[in-house]
Amino acid sequence: MSHYVFVTGGVLSSLGKGITAASLGTILKARGLKTTIMKCDPYLNVDPGTMSPYQHGEVFVTEDGAETDLDLGHYERFMDVNLSRHSSVTTGQVYSQVIQKERRGDYLGATVQVIPHITNAIKDMIIRAARINDAQVTIVEVGGTVGDIEGQPYLEAIRQMRNEIGRDKVCNIHLTYIPFTKSLGEMKTKPTQHSVREMRAIGLTPDIIVCRTQKPITSEVRNKISLFCDIDRDKVLEARDVDCLYEVPLMLEEQGLADKTLQKLGLETTIPDLDSWKEMVSLFKKKKSEKVRIALVGKYIKVADAYISIMESLTHASIHNDLGLEIVWVPSEQIEKEGADKLLADVDGVLVPGGFGDRGVEGKIESIRYCREKKIPFFGICLGMQCAVIEYSRNVAGLKGANSSEFDPESPYPVISLLPDQNGVVKGGTMRLGVYPCRVQEKTAGYSLYKTSLIYERHRHRFEVNNEFRNLLANKGLIMSGTSPDGQLVEMIELENHPFFVGCQFHPEFKSRPNRPQPLFYGFFNAAAKVRAAKT
Ligand code: GLN
Repeated sequence: MSHYVFVTGGVLSSLGKGITAASLGTILKARGLKTTIMKCDPYLNVDPGTMSPYQHGEVFVTEDGAETDLDLGHYERFMDVNLSRHSSVTTGQVYSQVIQKERRGDYLGATVQVIPHITNAIKDMIIRAARINDAQVTIVEVGGTVGDIEGQPYLEAIRQMRNEIGRDKVCNIHLTYIPFTKSLGEMKTKPTQHSVREMRAIGLTPDIIVCRTQKPITSEVRNKISLFCDIDRDKVLEARDVDCLYEVPLMLEEQGLADKTLQKLGLETTIPDLDSWKEMVSLFKKKKSEKVRIALVGKYIKVADAYISIMESLTHASIHNDLGLEIVWVPSEQIEKEGADKLLADVDGVLVPGGFGDRGVEGKIESIRYCREKKIPFFGICLGMQCAVIEYSRNVAGLKGANSSEFDPESPYPVISLLPDQNGVVKGGTMRLGVYPCRVQEKTAGYSLYKTSLIYERHRHRFEVNNEFRNLLANKGLIMSGTSPDGQLVEMIELENHPFFVGCQFHPEFKSRPNRPQPLFYGFFNAAAKVRAAKT
């Protein structure tokens, strides 16, 4: 049977609970413990697939095609695991399951209530994730902040679990925020005290408190939290702001987070093997003489979280190319107004990420034309690849008005169109999702990076390259370097006589790891680095 670590947050949202949970996973896994991790999100959406990136940030896709919270991306990158739909629970899922059971009559005439029916469903889902992953330790992050109305059933479920499986098999970690007031020159513990009081009102006591703070916490702060929150002094840890996220596991390891957690769980602790992690962090932190400037031409530029896996993948590529990275955010709509020549003049590479809807699409297409003609490394992901096909069709193959039927259903040349079996789709769970194999053609840039002809990448899209135009485009020089194994779907494109011009229908950013950069990101960054080197 698994042991459980519950990670809750207090005071504010966006404190880095996901990073804290993922970091604990990293240092437990480094001890050889079978550790899994999951997230409970208290919103009523069944999954974040239908939410705007402005609201929710990136939608992370698992191998089995679940659309999940971006924290799953942190978990996978930190712990180097592939998670599944069972690692992501939302209130929407919990309620739909309970309501379905109620309709079937499974509750045999009972009045269906939050307690016990909703809380039981939550407990079942947590235990299922532990069982499926055959975990010794299961880390469960509860989204939101303690005190939120919608989070209460989760906290009640956790309270019950502790009672049912034994107090010694459960550890509660609470992440809080210690504000520093400039005018008083003081750190304040009151918000933490209130947050712990909130927890206690529902019968939960933290075993470990991690304080998010800008500066090291003073001994006085530690004493106060210990006294008022009734917790051992040595169980008050700090999570200082850092430049490199991947430092957090090392910072928490230094303070004994894993040992203290294992002690609470009554599990033996061993010395962790964090050598390669430490090496990667020191590579990251090494002073770099040069920064490679990559433009991200996207639509949700105002929220960095919308492209978090892409940013991390670029970071991984930069670490292993031993060069710095500067991401230049370019709103695609601005390209439409001011032109690619002006906005992309001083960048070394251009990445056009995925997206939905027609806002800013013409700006993306224009950026791609600029890269193709000026021989600037270009990397197009999903919609980015589709835009590259549209650009090539219009400007090289002479198909005036070529478009995706997503943006122009009347286009005379719908070079990107719906999958044949997807006509009449409704939104929500109707996309091509999750991992699919792709056959990479030999003697292509794609092949030289992957070094294999069969790859597996994750997808999240509805539209595809329209097969009716494949021959025409191929005759005009567009290389379809990757297809589904049956040859029916175009998965990768590229151009010859260009430093790097690659597009992929899948999302390679979901599989990059800090110590294993994704091949296409690595190759793209490397090509951009050469452009930078030629300039200096
Ligand atoms: N909107 C496009 C499609 O549905 C691209 C999706 C994406 O970039 N994730 O196919």
